[in-house]
Amino acid sequence: MSANTDFTLAIEELTVSFDGFKAVNDLNLYVDKNELHVVIGPNGAGKTTVLDLICGKTKATSGSIKFLNKELTTMPEHKIVRAGVGRKFQTPSIYENLSVFENLEVSYPYGRSVLGSLLFKRTEKVERKIIKIAQDIMLEDSLDMPAGLLSHGQKQWLEIGMLLIQDPQLLMLDEPVAGMSVKEREQTAELLNKISKGRSVLVIEHDMDFVERIADKVTVLHQGKILAAGDMKKVQNDPKVIEVYLGH
Ligand code: ADP
Ligand code: MG
Repeated sequence: MSANTDFTLAIEELTVSFDGFKAVNDLNLYVDKNELHVVIGPNGAGKTTVLDLICGKTKATSGSIKFLNKELTTMPEHKIVRAGVGRKFQTPSIYENLSVFENLEVSYPYGRSVLGSLLFKRTEKVERKIIKIAQDIMLEDSLDMPAGLLSHGQKQWLEIGMLLIQDPQLLMLDEPVAGMSVKEREQTAELLNKISKGRSVLVIEHDMDFVERIADKVTVLHQGKILAAGDMKKVQNDPKVIEVYLGH
């Protein structure tokens, strides 16, 4: 195996087998710094399982996942988060009764519990950071609003903000625009383009207009294996990809 010292994320020969069924089968995938990498593919291709493997929710059967040259396959989930990997799930996990500001504040890495961080003295530095992130996620005018009153799209943005405040070097998002309006999708594309400057972003998505707007690189998964990889144009014109995915 090569050293791959320059990649933020280097996945090599990664396999996970569930009772003999290989949901991810000998996968190699590399993500550079500042790269926005999108994984597409039919349902059941193994996309979500790849994110589960990276964040330590699922343990690999074999292979390697190196994040900034640290091996993740043997690391527990909470250490992977602390090492700088943030992951957003499909359903947002925000605190509906807390305000937007408070949701961002409890996610600031100085406190590990809701109570602990609410009791922590609010410093100017933290407050400035919260406001900056609220601007990035287009919620600067809703800081005092209970998060439960936000629209579906705004809740997704808030959760992205709750990850951003922890400054992850790798941010992973599973179908971030599902259920969003056309306008919200456009705004989310802008947001992701902005936040991929300075970190690596790995996104799973089906909406090809959206993928086209954001992707530096696309990997197509099929039955746990890579069907094609490259820039959007190359992948879109690949006859195998058209046959198993885009043609439907
Ligand atoms: P995708 O996100 O591409 O739609 P998934 O990664 O969710 O696909 O699933 C890939 C395959 O692995 C599916 O056949 C799914 O049923 C199976 N799978 C995923 N997680 C588990 C698990 N924990 N145990 C058993 N089978 C699983
Ligand atoms: Mg999935």
